[in-house]
Amino acid sequence: MKTFLLIFFLFSTAGCAGPKTVYICNSKNARKYHYTADCRGLSDCQYRIVRTTLKSAVSSNKTLCDWERDSSGTASPDL
Ligand SMILES: [Zn+2]
Repeated sequence: MKTFLLIFFLFSTAGCAGPKTVYICNSKNARKYHYTADCRGLSDCQYRIVRTTLKSAVSSNKTLCDWERDSSGTASPDL
């Protein structure tokens, strides 16, 4: 019983850490996703900024915004 609870706890913790939150501009032309909502790339967004998961953004063919890709903030993958 205790083991089961521990396993469940570990799984739920991992599940919470899994989906990475990214931000996209809710525009038809938006092709980028952003790690931060106040990114320079998003300041041009005339539409609503939508929070989504990295997985969802990538599956809708979005790529990481140029500002965040080129900047020194080359985030480590496990951030
Ligand atoms: Zn960006």
